[in-house]
Formats: sequence, structure tokens, C-alpha cells
Amino acid sequence: MAGRRLFRALIMGAPGSGKGTISERIVSDFGLKHLSSGDLLRSQILQKTDVGLQAQKYIDEGALVPDETMVALISAELKKLAEHSWLLDGFPRTRHQAEALHKVQPLDTVISLNVPFQVIIDRIKDRWVHLPSGRIYNTLFNPPKNPFTDDVTGERLVQRADDAPDAVRKRLEVYQASAGPVIEFYRELGVLEEFSGSETNKIWPHVRRMLQQRIQ
Ligand code: ATP
Ligand code: MG
Repeated sequence: MAGRRLFRALIMGAPGSGKGTISERIVSDFGLKHLSSGDLLRSQILQKTDVGLQAQKYIDEGALVPDETMVALISAELKKLAEHSWLLDGFPRTRHQAEALHKVQPLDTVISLNVPFQVIIDRIKDRWVHLPSGRIYNTLFNPPKNPFTDDVTGERLVQRADDAPDAVRKRLEVYQASAGPVIEFYRELGVLEEFSGSETNKIWPHVRRMLQQRIQ
């Protein structure tokens, strides 16, 4: 990719706002590397690493994993991606995390998805995931080719424990409290791009158009 400027972006949005689905489309259309903090944590849990064991209790109850843990985990991953353009998803989640990232790598664009909370609560119950890869499906609007089966590996899809209604409500509250200061931080830096709507398939063309203008 010699001669090409690296592009560093973040996608933000409440749990179930379509971040993962839009991220997959960005990755496939624009060739960015996708780094999802939630997927990374879930893979640490599957592998039973120290970080995974520490993080599990926070995740299961829908609370945030401590900033120090997250900054260390993501910094290590970003080092491996130094030569690539990338899209972060799920990190930074707090103002502290945003400031820590800004010191090592300022962002070019921050995509913020605004989806009404009631829409999210209604559709998260139809979400199924392939845990090892983080691929997500929604039985209503983004179904797998075969029921409850991952398109790529043919393995079973599962529902996340933290997608249970009580944990979802908690995660939405946590998002509301912590995202505002992060959004303000990026608005002040002049890199914030906001998209509102109730349907991922309708939001996506706007996101794609914006990125087409930014990524050469
Ligand atoms: P969705 O996957 O629907 O977008 P989400 O954004 O809540 O929902 P993930 O990003 O997958 O879910 O994160 C799942 C959980 O992992 C969070 O509820 C939180 O406990 C933990 N987590 C992920 N990223 C961070 C972060 N940057 N800081 C603190 N905790 C985090
Ligand atoms: Mg996610």
C-alpha cells in the first residue's frame, strides 16, 4: 500500500445500534482492518486468559471493564496494525480512553450512530453471533444463509448472555452516561460524523458516501 495515506476511524453507537454490521460492510468495501473491543474481550474469555477472566464479571453484568485494562489491551493490538488503515469499534468508550488513544494515535473520522433505544431493545432479541469471529446476524433483517449457522464456517450461532433484556437495559444506561463526553471530545476535534435512523440498511449508504469522500 505504498504511497497511500493510512486512515484511522472509530465507529460509536449504543449496544445493538448496528455498529458491528456497518463495520463489516466498511471492512469489505474499504479494506480497513476491524478491531472490536467486545470481540477481543470475548476471544480472551474463550481462551481463558488473565484479562479474559478479569473482564468476564464486568461484561456479564453489562458494566464497563476498567479503563487501564482496556487501554493496555487495545494499545497492544494497535501496535500490530501500525502499517494498516483500521476501524475501531467499541473503544474508546470513556473520555479517559479517548484521551489515552489521542496521545498515541489521533483519529481521522469518528462515525456515531444514533438509533432510538426502543428500536434497539426490540431487535437485540433477534441477534445471533458467531463467537469466534464476531460475525453477527439478525434473524429479521440480516439472516444467515442457513438458520442458526455461520455463513463462513458452518458453525452454530449463539445468543450473547449480555443480550438478555436486563443486561441490555443496563448497557444502554451505561452507554448513555459514558458516550456523551466521548462524542463531545471528538466534536471539539472536528472529526465527528453523526448518522441517525432506525434501520441499518438505510443508514449504511450515508456512511459509505461519507467514507468514499474521505478515503482515496
Ligand atoms: P454491541 O456489540 O451490540 O455493539 P456493545 O457495544 O455493548 O454492544 P461490545 O462492544 O461487544 O458490546 O462490548 C461488550 C462488553 O465488553 C461491554 O458491555 C463491556 O463490558 C466490555 N467492553 C467492550 N469495550 C469496552 C471498552 N472500551 N471499555 C470498557 N468495557 C468495554
Ligand atoms: Mg459490537
